[in-house]
Amino acid sequence: MRKIALEEHFVTEALAPYGASTAGVAQPHVWAAASRQLLDLTDQRLQEMDSAGVDVAVLSLNSPGIQAEEDAAKAVSAAQSVNDFLAETIAQHPTRFGGFAALPLQDPKAAAKELDRAVTELGFSGALVNAHTQGKYLDDPDLRVVWEHAEGLDVPLYLHPGNGYDSAHVLSGHPELVGPMWSWGTDTSTHALRLIFGGVFDDFPNAKLFLGHMGEGLPYTLWRLDSRWAFHNHHGIELARGNPSEYLRHNLYITTSGVCSDAPLLCALLALGADHILFATDHPFEDMRVATDFLDRAPLSEADRHKISHLNAERLLRVPRAEELDD
Ligand code: MN
Repeated sequence: MRKIALEEHFVTEALAPYGASTAGVAQPHVWAAASRQLLDLTDQRLQEMDSAGVDVAVLSLNSPGIQAEEDAAKAVSAAQSVNDFLAETIAQHPTRFGGFAALPLQDPKAAAKELDRAVTELGFSGALVNAHTQGKYLDDPDLRVVWEHAEGLDVPLYLHPGNGYDSAHVLSGHPELVGPMWSWGTDTSTHALRLIFGGVFDDFPNAKLFLGHMGEGLPYTLWRLDSRWAFHNHHGIELARGNPSEYLRHNLYITTSGVCSDAPLLCALLALGADHILFATDHPFEDMRVATDFLDRAPLSEADRHKISHLNAERLLRVPRAEELDD
């Protein structure tokens, strides 16, 4: 079955230093191996894709990427350069790779312009944003222009985790909880809820938010979100759709990146439906073969497996369709 994988990371030598703050999260030998894999966009990567049965990988700059740049002008030029570099790689293998743009959200208007360029000129599938940008989240009023362009272009923003702006007190004394095992997930799910309660999807009802890692826990929470929204002081917030779960069902799409387990997949399927789940591996931080085996064996109907494996990506993203391929 054709497989399109959506959270497949790379880095360039020039931008690798942005990852310094993430290096301490991982075991040194694991980080060293992943760092080598991130720099290889084609040779070993294509072999692994072939061996695991991944037909198309939509590539994205590894976390924290451009978000880590403190200087807005440098962020703009670095994003343009890395998007051009990615476009060249895609052009060499147009049937195997797609791309999510890196956005210099430090300069919101430049970020919106770069998203336009990446989609309309470079043929990218949307953009991937790593957590906060210098403390700014995607519900910030300054960033509405980016959502406006994303909705207008009909492309998603993929919100990927990264180190938090600061560390919650509950994590104090427990650095082992900081990173993708735990704190990145809670940071990202909270960020997603900021978008709902911050009115992003009321302003842009057809905006599409992608989350990895089987939805960062959110599919599990729908009923309680609604139940406790009815209980909470709303502090003046009104949701046009009434309940928070409506936004998770309508605007949220999740990927299977980094979660190869039937229980959360079936929860997501029941909570969001098969049209809102897409395949991803999280290369190089997870094994592509484990991810494809998981999808092949998951207890799904064949119709749903096709949707998750490639049909949803072909419907939602600008990726090559099998019938358009000439090889
Ligand atoms: Mn990832």
